[in-house]
Amino acid sequence: MITRYCDYDLTRRNTFRMKVRCDSWIDYDSPDDLPAIFRELSGKWMHIGGGSNLLFTGDFHGTILHSSIRGVHADGTVVTVGAGEKLDDVISWACSQGLWGLENLSAIPGEAGAAAVQNVGAYGVEISDLIVDVRVFDTLTRKFRVIPAAEVAYGYRHSMFKEPVNKSRFIIVSLRIKLSDTPSPVLTHSGLSQFAAVEKLTPEAVRGGVIAVRASKLPDPLVTGSAGSFFKNPVIPVDRGVSLLASYPDMPHYQADGGWKIPAAWLIERSGMRGRAEGGAAVWQRQPLVIVNLSGNASPADIISLENEIIDAVLSRFGIELSPEVEHI
Ligand SMILES: Cc1cc2nc3c(=O)[nH]c(=O)nc-3n(C[C@H](O)[C@H](O)[C@H](O)COP(=O)(O)OP(=O)(O)OC[C@H]3O[C@@H](n4cnc5c(N)ncnc54)[C@H](O)[C@@H]3O)c2cc1C
Repeated sequence: MITRYCDYDLTRRNTFRMKVRCDSWIDYDSPDDLPAIFRELSGKWMHIGGGSNLLFTGDFHGTILHSSIRGVHADGTVVTVGAGEKLDDVISWACSQGLWGLENLSAIPGEAGAAAVQNVGAYGVEISDLIVDVRVFDTLTRKFRVIPAAEVAYGYRHSMFKEPVNKSRFIIVSLRIKLSDTPSPVLTHSGLSQFAAVEKLTPEAVRGGVIAVRASKLPDPLVTGSAGSFFKNPVIPVDRGVSLLASYPDMPHYQADGGWKIPAAWLIERSGMRGRAEGGAAVWQRQPLVIVNLSGNASPADIISLENEIIDAVLSRFGIELSPEVEHI
């Protein structure tokens, strides 16, 4: 079924709770709706999920599409998930079935389709570790296609779907993920290490641990507006890292992508930005990587001005330019 609204309020459709509108909103609940929608669609459009990685910088003068395609079907340990399913509902279901793989991604907001675009990750696991393939509607050819995970070019919070040439070309309608019915916990994060000693560990227990760690650090999207981590962790050349380490011996760093990955949260903290506020927006006290709509009435301009202040502070202190993980619309 296709449902259409004009002059639609997006406040509850973005987790930053920006009070913005779009000219037109289309919700659909079957892949078969897409060819019909695209026969009629004209002008500017975009597709969103739960709006948890977006910053609307103003009203969207065009059409926003949203998938309500549901369904979670298991064939052994391979599970097909409709793009409009809430990712955390799928994880809760998988854990209740004793299936391993997704538990470390518990409580990440958003929908399954977007998770495959974003390559969501947390506590040592990325969803691309589990994806078998993704079924898409190609808006250029108006045909459906199955793309194997190996062709999706997954990287850190990256996939082919985020590349400019593909942006708005592919709409994900479902994905297949391969889970495991034998224990395969990933407990590398310090907040989960206590589970290493647990006999007969279950995915539900790890899920509970992940949710507790997240609740101690991250804002509850139902209470405080945010889009989670606002910036990506930068990767810098090794020689640059070595010279920074001489000045900041406690600087955390990890080998990644041929360089050193430095936690953006550490850079922001050490640039004196923890707790900094701009209008109704603020840097989250418990996790400086997160910008929040603290007052509930922050405007896009408040968020952007705080974002720029953070980028400038980190650049002038460390010579590293942060780039946003959150997509600006
Ligand atoms: C409190 C909080 C904590 C978070 N923690 C994490 C975390 O630990 N790890 C992490 O990786 N992320 C995290 N995030 C970010 C966010 O939850 C993820 O990026 C999530 O995958 C976004 O899903 P969404 O459904 O809200 O997508 P949206 O934000 O609506 O869209 C994201 C992108 O996907 C595209 N898209 C959406 N649906 C489709 C579709 N069906 N087909 C094609 N393209 C589509 C959109 O056009 C957009 O480009 C957090 C966010 C918040 C608010």
